Amino acid sequence: MLVRDPVVDVFFCVWFFLFGACIGSFLNVAVYRLPRGKSLAYPPSFCPCCGHFIRWFDNIPVFGWLKLGGKCRDCRSPISVRYPLIEAITGIFFGGIFLAAVFLLPEAGVTVLAALTLLTAGMMTVFFGAVLICFSKRSVL
Ligand SMILES: [Zn+2]
Repeated sequence: MLVRDPVVDVFFCVWFFLFGACIGSFLNVAVYRLPRGKSLAYPPSFCPCCGHFIRWFDNIPVFGWLKLGGKCRDCRSPISVRYPLIEAITGIFFGGIFLAAVFLLPEAGVTVLAALTLLTAGMMTVFFGAVLICFSKRSVL
């Protein structure tokens, strides 16, 4: 019988949440730029109101938005709650699926759980992204 360390499970759960939030941050970029035919790589993230580039420490998924109170650091114009929401939802896909896998497959090793998490959460994220892009094309978001 395989005995996993709960501390390792919690570590991986938090790690997968943070990893998923980073994927969600990229998803935000893709959802905004792809339907508009813009590059995913350039320019770096910027405020659409004042044009200032977002500093790296303000661009940390979920926490950056919370730290700034949902407003641009430079011009104080509001930043949509959609950004941290998509980051958090994607983070929950990854962290939550890892947590579910821990409980559903208590005999599995962490490598198997991580692989299942990446596969399942990855597919959910692609589907989520496709849905968001469809709504973005309709100008709902
Ligand atoms: Zn601004």
